[in-house]
Amino acid sequence: MKKNKANDEISTIGLHPISDVDIKRLSDLKRIGIFGGTFNPIHNAHMLAAECARAALRLSCVVFMPVGVPPVKKMVETAAHRLAMTKAACASNADFHVSDYETSNDQISYSYNTCLAFTHQFPDADITFICGADAFMKIAKWRNYEELLSLVNFCIVTRPGIMEGALDDFTTRIEKKYGKKISKVRIPALEISSADIRSRIAVGEKVRYLMPDEAVLYAINNGLYMRKLQEPRAKARLKKDLSQNRYEHSLAVAEEAVRLARIYGVDEDLAYEAGLLHDCAKGMSPDGLPPDEAGYNIEFTEYEKSKPATIHAPLGAVRARTVYGVRDAQVLNAIRYHTIGRENMSMLEKIVFVADYIEPGRYEDESIRSARLAADTDIDAAAELKKRRNRFEHS
Ligand code: ATP
Ligand code: MG
Repeated sequence: MKKNKANDEISTIGLHPISDVDIKRLSDLKRIGIFGGTFNPIHNAHMLAAECARAALRLSCVVFMPVGVPPVKKMVETAAHRLAMTKAACASNADFHVSDYETSNDQISYSYNTCLAFTHQFPDADITFICGADAFMKIAKWRNYEELLSLVNFCIVTRPGIMEGALDDFTTRIEKKYGKKISKVRIPALEISSADIRSRIAVGEKVRYLMPDEAVLYAINNGLYMRKLQEPRAKARLKKDLSQNRYEHSLAVAEEAVRLARIYGVDEDLAYEAGLLHDCAKGMSPDGLPPDEAGYNIEFTEYEKSKPATIHAPLGAVRARTVYGVRDAQVLNAIRYHTIGRENMSMLEKIVFVADYIEPGRYEDESIRSARLAADTDIDAAAELKKRRNRFEHS
């Protein structure tokens, strides 16, 4: 971060500095809106609220400010995901900017601190804090709310569920008490909430048109808000679809993948899921597979088309998604590439690739013995042995 006098001042009062990206984007602006929220996930009512506030108050820019650690204990997706998802949603709008001010550190985020830092950094700007009516009605619970009220302007957007009469009474009382004009912006009522979207995704419902497409894509690709694999159900299904031997092999690969995940610092749950489901389409044909809600289609490589023994891997990735509800792209890729591998495999992909080769139930020949010996210290060497075997068997 470049040397910046205002940031020195901000540090002196115990706050963390504002990033160069924010400074570059916001310096010289006359009217800045700050729109705080958990954005867990961001949705269309947020986008509409920001745009209506911008237009009504002639703001030069609305800064979306995903909260880092919320003051009120709330289970939220990681800050990194919420930040990236909000950025994806706002990328196409030049009037919107997304700040990492609150997500870039692990202290509890208070709007007062954020606004204080921003008023220091941008002393010539008129700063307006934008919030929904439901949030504003609870302002007396916010840290330093009285100071915050006198520090910045407030813009309240209407929200279904909050009667305007009650909102107006409350606003008038605040205005009188603090001698402060508060703007109200009436926006077209959208009965959308992040909580509702989370429960829809968890049961596999579509959320298109409730959220910007880019944010839907981000959430789905990163497996956000999905229910984790329901293990007993998944096992029962596998047992039905696979031979007894193949089922036992799947359990063994899952265990072996977890063991390797522990060694190589990879998420053990993901390793278990991918190991368990890697052969879930073994012996099946591509016919009759339902396309899933993201229109995820199987694309076979030329090689796979010519080797029927390998298609259960790409097929398995689709089946893991559609039948078993797996949404994590890393897990799906580990299943997708467990037979023939690919260039630049992720560690999870290598783990499942190797676990499939060396799980204890497999007959030990020379190549497998060497792979077993190598796996714990040099996973690439173990993977190479399987690739060599593949080249030999599929040539
Ligand atoms: P959750 O259901 O998790 O509380 P949310 O939909 O309320 O999520 P937040 O991230 O909590 O979204 O909200 C950020 C800001 O956007 C808040 O000030 C909130 O009042 C406002 N807001 C959220 N949804 C709407 C909506 N449908 N209409 C108007 N304002 C909204
Ligand atoms: Mg809320």
